[in-house]
Amino acid sequence: MTTIAFIGLGNMGCPMALNLLKAGHTVRVFDLLASALETTAEKGAIVCNSAAEACQNVNTVITMLPAGKHVKSLYLGSNGQAGLIDTLDKKTLVIDCSTIDAETANEVHSHCETLGVDMLDAPVSGGVAAAQSGGLTFMCGGSEQAFTRAEEVLKDMGINIFHAGTNGSGQVAKMCNNMLLAIHMIGTSEALKLGEKNGLDASTLSQIMLASSGKNWSLERYNPYPNVMANSPASNDYEPGFMVDLMAKDLGLAIDNAQTTQSQTPLGKMALELYKSKQKSGDGKKDFSSIIELFS
Ligand code: NAD
Repeated sequence: MTTIAFIGLGNMGCPMALNLLKAGHTVRVFDLLASALETTAEKGAIVCNSAAEACQNVNTVITMLPAGKHVKSLYLGSNGQAGLIDTLDKKTLVIDCSTIDAETANEVHSHCETLGVDMLDAPVSGGVAAAQSGGLTFMCGGSEQAFTRAEEVLKDMGINIFHAGTNGSGQVAKMCNNMLLAIHMIGTSEALKLGEKNGLDASTLSQIMLASSGKNWSLERYNPYPNVMANSPASNDYEPGFMVDLMAKDLGLAIDNAQTTQSQTPLGKMALELYKSKQKSGDGKKDFSSIIELFS
């Protein structure tokens, strides 16, 4: 068992930290929002007054923050304030689980390398339910050494732990996966609505497509049509789940990257436009499967 600093106790970070506590680790926690710390404090986490305090005498630092700008300012500093990395012991392992752009991840990696600190970018797939059950998938980017060290801790929060490649590769894998997820969620929604327009029952059509070549994860695990699947957000007024705002953020990362790398992603671009239009209609906080509401 080890001593871990966990920074960012939101929808994902809180259940992840709870699983670390359950596994017997000592967990020192910090979040800008005091209310975010209550649940882990009740389960034995040590509440700290700053990120730097949380990182004192720990073996591992884990961050689960909203976006690249939060990760960059925390680790590298901002407005003349020193970043966290400069205060860390060289033996500390840094694991950033936030979904951010690969460029920022690489910037933090380079700074860590200069100081001799092991770092892994390790974004996750699976959402809040998997964070709660300890069933996350981790996609890791970094050195073999950092990955081997991190596995010991990641296994207490996830079941699939992949070493995608060198620095930033975890973020690239996550970006590709979520672009594909958006595309098949949109495709599944279109197909179900087209069937409905032609008088087909959505449950029957879903069963047919699940046994045919249209089978995909959205159809199998996350049906966007209300009341086809009892536990899907669609059957609960599109309560997230995974918010439209987060999907739009992830698609933005993919399209920015496609521009930089001159990759053709026409469906990814269209998916981003559709999710942006959902945001414009005030549905940013709904589950991302609510994209079906765009199609009449
Ligand atoms: P969230 O907004 O619920 O939580 C983020 C937390 O970080 C908040 O509590 C916030 O106060 C805290 N925070 C921000 N800046 C901070 C700082 N400088 N110091 C300390 N705390 C700070 O977000 P979330 O849903 O938990 O998502 C976190 C990350 O995981 C995001 O990058 C998201 O894209 C990714 N992700 C989310 C899901 C999901 O289903 N929610 C799934 C996979 C990946």
